[in-house]
Amino acid sequence: MTLIYPPKFHKTSSETIFFIGHAEDFLLINDARVDLIYAGNFCPVYDLNPGLNIFEINIDGISERVEIVREPFQDVSNIYEFKKYNGASVSNNFLKICLDPGHGGFQNGTSSPRGIKEKDLNLKLCLKIKSGLEDSGFEVVLTRDSDKDLSLEDRVSIAKVNNCDLFLSIHHNAIPDHLNPLEHQGISAHYYYEHSKELAENLSRVLASDFGMQNNGAILQNLYVTRENYFSKAILLECGYLIHPIESELIIQDEFQDKFAGFLSKFLKNSRSDI
Ligand SMILES: [Zn+2]
Repeated sequence: MTLIYPPKFHKTSSETIFFIGHAEDFLLINDARVDLIYAGNFCPVYDLNPGLNIFEINIDGISERVEIVREPFQDVSNIYEFKKYNGASVSNNFLKICLDPGHGGFQNGTSSPRGIKEKDLNLKLCLKIKSGLEDSGFEVVLTRDSDKDLSLEDRVSIAKVNNCDLFLSIHHNAIPDHLNPLEHQGISAHYYYEHSKELAENLSRVLASDFGMQNNGAILQNLYVTRENYFSKAILLECGYLIHPIESELIIQDEFQDKFAGFLSKFLKNSRSDI
């Protein structure tokens, strides 16, 4: 029924591209049949030639043309300047938590093959986590409680103004063009400063094992919200791959999110009392 990714016109320096979407039966890409993987979801991967690549997609009798331009590779790995911070004054006794539902407003984030937007799922999960944390005795500040645009600077300043002891950004994962959606799944916790590393490791490990999901562990990454939140512990949690045709069917369920919120709250409560 829908092609979620890539957009009709897309530029990339990758050598391959994946297609994600949802159909009733099967689809045709350049007249070749593509079968569905799971629950009506599809995710074939194609090689790209340099320059313009055209794909004629036929889903349930409706045709669409997708144009992808493969550009020369540009190295952007040094775009950020890394900051150093020793984190000596960061408290381990976190009582006040800033919960940050990733994206919002015109920033959709990624999508599931059925078209569920990451920004909506992030918010829904955060509202559940908020009530779980409050039941466990935490004070919770949300960076957004509705579908609105919010800059990365605003997210950090909300945590700072409210003197939060822990900043937790909630996301659902996507993958770059050149990877196969079927080969990437699971939970990861992204941190920047050493003072957040142990909590990130434990968080990812415990949640993954609670749900029988793959543990991708704590990942050191230079993200704005974890780097600029140097005054507290700061973790960006990827709660599963929304783009994965099978995993997405699990993580969009209410029941999963209720349990996830419960386990996360319990974990944070236990981490606090251990100190
Ligand atoms: Zn995201």
